[in-house]
Amino acid sequence: MADPYDVILLGLGAMGSAATYQLAKRGAKVLGIDQFSPPHELGSTHGDTRITRLACGEGPEYTEFATRSHEIWRELEGELGVRLLTQNGMVVIYGPGKRSPSHGVPEFLAATVDVARANGIDHRVLDTAEIRARFPVFNVTDGDEAYHDDVSGFVYPERCIDAQLGQAKALGARLALNERVTSFEQADGGVTVTTDKATYRARQLIVAAGAWLPGLLPPNLAAGFKVTRQVLYWFQAKDAEAHRQFSPDACPIYIWQIPAPQVVYGFPAVGAFEDGIKLATEQTTTTTTPGEVDRSVSAEETEEMYRTYVAPYFPGLSSKCIKAKVCLYTEVDKARFVIDRHPHMDRVIVASPCSGHGFKHSAGIGELLAQMALGESHRDISKFRFSG
Ligand SMILES: Cc1cc2nc3c(=O)[nH]c(=O)nc-3n(C[C@H](O)[C@H](O)[C@H](O)COP(=O)(O)OP(=O)(O)OC[C@H]3O[C@@H](n4cnc5c(N)ncnc54)[C@H](O)[C@@H]3O)c2cc1C
Repeated sequence: MADPYDVILLGLGAMGSAATYQLAKRGAKVLGIDQFSPPHELGSTHGDTRITRLACGEGPEYTEFATRSHEIWRELEGELGVRLLTQNGMVVIYGPGKRSPSHGVPEFLAATVDVARANGIDHRVLDTAEIRARFPVFNVTDGDEAYHDDVSGFVYPERCIDAQLGQAKALGARLALNERVTSFEQADGGVTVTTDKATYRARQLIVAAGAWLPGLLPPNLAAGFKVTRQVLYWFQAKDAEAHRQFSPDACPIYIWQIPAPQVVYGFPAVGAFEDGIKLATEQTTTTTTPGEVDRSVSAEETEEMYRTYVAPYFPGLSSKCIKAKVCLYTEVDKARFVIDRHPHMDRVIVASPCSGHGFKHSAGIGELLAQMALGESHRDISKFRFSG
């Protein structure tokens, strides 16, 4: 067998592409393997845009990753001349009465303010009149308030994967695409990775398999992960003026704890009038697997989305749904991430930073994974252990 790789990446989605790039940048001999040809639409990293925010209501431990990710994306933009990140601001809206939790956090606005204060992130809290005056796209209720900052915004996930894999390749990484890993085992001071085409050896393996991760772990570890089906929708504005009100300089990204069962979140218009405007809600109760998930979206689902989550809150959006896409969350209790050594194989690092909010951290997490694999990281990862 040829000389072993320093590191093999199993999975080249959001996390794997970022780690492969960071490893190649550090001069490591790296092989990235993916069963498909990322970016693709079968995992967790598709659908044009992802929210990014530095004040993360999920907890203070996330801000460092998002901040570092912004720096890395800006560097890549400079090197490649592509637009990856738009910082057009964010509102988190909350109000009186029973409100839906966001990522398990009952009062996401208050939690977001706490993290912003702790990290010195410039922000303000708007009252109902200020929200109405500044952001007429939102039909808020009397008593609603909004956290607002200017540093949040959105990222283009497919472009980020493309950019990082392209740079990794240019720096000497080998990419094995359309090749599925069937097993891995640690023995004789390294890890052996078997695919449907070949067998490879490496000093370290990083498993960044997204929703496929539970199928690669023993049952006791797999039990800590729950894969859920999510749907993204693009509804057309009622007319050109309504579309204009959703333009990125007029409309921030938003997370809105409405009274309906789930939160609604969404984006400004990033395309033309006929491309529609993206928004979504979440469901965390029905589990699935990447093999079994229903990837079609029925007319009934779309009608229910419009009736419950769109019509009452966004007067500028029509019922015309341009497209809808199914995507997968891999969730850990309390919307946590797992970034840890495999309990039975110390040369294997497992990375599952999803729980519905991982993309904004992916470039920074890729850097951490590279440092962990090369023995350079001294970062405290106690919050991201398998055991929680
Ligand atoms: C609908 C939706 C909305 C979201 N919104 C946001 C948001 O606004 N902001 C935010 O920050 N985050 C958001 N997230 C979360 C974020 O997108 C995920 O955290 C992130 O994309 C996960 O990346 P990943 O690398 O873990 O998985 P993926 O990108 O899915 O990558 C896993 C890769 O592993 C490969 N693979 C798996 N098994 C094998 C195998 N055996 N052999 C070879 N290859 C294999 C797969 O083919 C895949 O390419 C959202 C997620 C979804 C689904």
